[in-house]
Amino acid sequence: MKLRKVTAASATIFALALTATACGSDDSGSKESGSGSGSGGSKSITIGIKFDQPGLGQKTPDGYAGFDVDVATYVAKELGYSEDQIEWKEAKSADRETMLQRGDVDFIAATYSINDERDKLVDFAGPYLLAHQDVLVRADDDSIKSPEDLNNKKLCSVTGSTSAANVKEKLAPKAQLQEYPTYSACLSGLQNKAIDALTTDDSILAGYAAQDNFKGKFKLGGFKMTNENYGIGVKEGSDLKAKINTALEKMVSDGSWEKAVTANFGPANYKNEPAPKIGDIKK
Ligand code: GLU
Repeated sequence: MKLRKVTAASATIFALALTATACGSDDSGSKESGSGSGSGGSKSITIGIKFDQPGLGQKTPDGYAGFDVDVATYVAKELGYSEDQIEWKEAKSADRETMLQRGDVDFIAATYSINDERDKLVDFAGPYLLAHQDVLVRADDDSIKSPEDLNNKKLCSVTGSTSAANVKEKLAPKAQLQEYPTYSACLSGLQNKAIDALTTDDSILAGYAAQDNFKGKFKLGGFKMTNENYGIGVKEGSDLKAKINTALEKMVSDGSWEKAVTANFGPANYKNEPAPKIGDIKK
C-alpha cells in the first residue's frame, strides 16, 4: 500500500491554506497563498476524503492511503498540484454536501455515491468506481442469509449515507437501524455485540474485514443490494467537473486506475467491478 506522506512542506501549505480559507475561497478550485514576504507564492488544493476506511481513505501515522486517496492524488496532479500541495480534510458522510457548498474543500473523493438528491445540491464528476451495498456480520453468525433477515436485527449504518437511507426506504424497513457518525464506530458496536450487522458498500466492508486485528472475526453477506456509483463531488456549477472527468478518463486509459485498484483492494481480496465509463451511472 502506498502512503501519501505528511511532509513538512504540506504542513506549511496546510497553515497557508487555512489562512486562505479564512479569507474566503475562490471558485476556480485552487487557493493561491502568498508567502507573506512578497517573493513568489505557493498554491494548494483541499480535498475531502474519509479518514477511517482502510483500502479507500485512511489516515495513518505515516500519511494517507487508499483507492480514493490515489484517485484524488492523480486528479490533483492533472489539475496542476503535486502531492505536497494537497491538504486532506476529513469528509464524513453527513458533511459532504455542506463542505462543498461552503467551499471548505475543492473536491471530495470519499466513497461518495452519485444520486439525484445529492445532485441537486452539488455536481459530480465520474463515476470512477461501482460498488454495491452489502452487510458485515460476525463470523459465527449464521442468522443473516438474505437482506430480508435484517428486519428486526440491530443494524448499524452512518448518518447521511445512502446505505442508511436504503435500509429505511426499501431494504429492511423493519430493522432496528442505528445511525452512527462513522463506519468505524459501527464496527466497534459489531465487535462488542451492541449491533448485529453493519451495512454499507462492499468495498468499505471488505477493507474492514481484512484488517489484521479483525482477521476471521467478520464476514460479508455478498448480497449486492444496490449499485453505488462513486463520483467526485464538486461545488455546483464548478468548472472542475469537466477537468476532473478528463483526468479520470486518463487515469483509466494509462493503466493507473488498474494499478490503484490492485494496490488498494488486493490486500482485502475485494473483487471490484471494471472501470465505469464517465457519465454511465448504473441504476
Ligand atoms: N457510498 C455510500 C454513500 O455515499 C455509502 C458510503 C459512505 O457513506 O461514504 O452514502
